[in-house]
Amino acid sequence: MTAATHAPIVVLGTGFGALSTVRALRAGGCTDPITMIGPRAELHYLPGTIWIPSGLRTRADLVVPLGNFFQRMNVQHHQASVTGLSDDGRVVHTTAGDVANHALVIASGARFIRKLPGIEHAVVPCEGIDAAERVRDRLRAMDGGTIAIGFGANPHEPSAVRGGPMFEFLFGIERQLRREGRREQFKLVFFNPRPSPASAWARRRWRNCWRACSARASRRTWATRCCASRPTRWSPRAASSRPI
Ligand SMILES: Cc1cc2nc3c(=O)[nH]c(=O)nc-3n(C[C@H](O)[C@H](O)[C@H](O)COP(=O)(O)OP(=O)(O)OC[C@H]3O[C@@H](n4cnc5c(N)ncnc54)[C@H](O)[C@@H]3O)c2cc1C
Repeated sequence: MTAATHAPIVVLGTGFGALSTVRALRAGGCTDPITMIGPRAELHYLPGTIWIPSGLRTRADLVVPLGNFFQRMNVQHHQASVTGLSDDGRVVHTTAGDVANHALVIASGARFIRKLPGIEHAVVPCEGIDAAERVRDRLRAMDGGTIAIGFGANPHEPSAVRGGPMFEFLFGIERQLRREGRREQFKLVFFNPRPSPASAWARRRWRNCWRACSARASRRTWATRCCASRPTRWSPRAASSRPI
């Protein structure tokens, strides 16, 4: 071990999972020292990235500084990326030295499977703000063409997939192009290996949206009126007066 960090509880990551862990520990009366390990003292609000291509959200809207959170929760932030574990998880190796623990929570999120042939040419918007900005910049630079949007599952665990964000990008981009008056120049293609790619939950949700919207307006416009096209959900900007 290179760093003599006394950190009985170590949490990897600074996303929703990691922050919820710390809040639950403190709410439950835990007074042990806690160290969170992550490359940035920031929460990136990923659900809001669907508004980046249209400019409804920018990076600044979606990055939440965590300084106050660390202070309030009495947490030490070890600014680094994790590179490995040893001693049955009791030592965490990072780009800024090793960190010992007596309890470890791994909340470092998901990693996307990049095995599909040709995937190196695709932008995976769910990877974060950088990727969503690439989608925005590519859309701005295009004056027409075909945009293919889709997703697949892990063949070894087909239920481990959440395609919702890709539908949100699809409907959002469709709406954006129409609003910009250039929808006719683009062909939008949705692809998925399954004949019915949406989960039962999503299908129920869309059916309800369809009913609500068709009661109010023509069916042709239903997608533009549903949750996929309006920034109505929680966002850091909307909740800026509330501490996280
Ligand atoms: C476009 C989009 C829309 C979404 N919409 C919704 C929605 O409407 N509702 C909903 O419930 N969910 C939604 N989600 C899903 C939700 O954002 C994720 O489920 C959630 O972010 C997962 O939280 P997490 O803490 O597990 O992982 P993440 O948020 O991915 O956080 C992982 C953390 O680990 C850190 N990390 C990763 N690797 C390392 C390393 N090697 N060393 C140190 N730190 C590391 C990262 O920096 C990050 O801080 C959406 C996601 C996307 C992308």
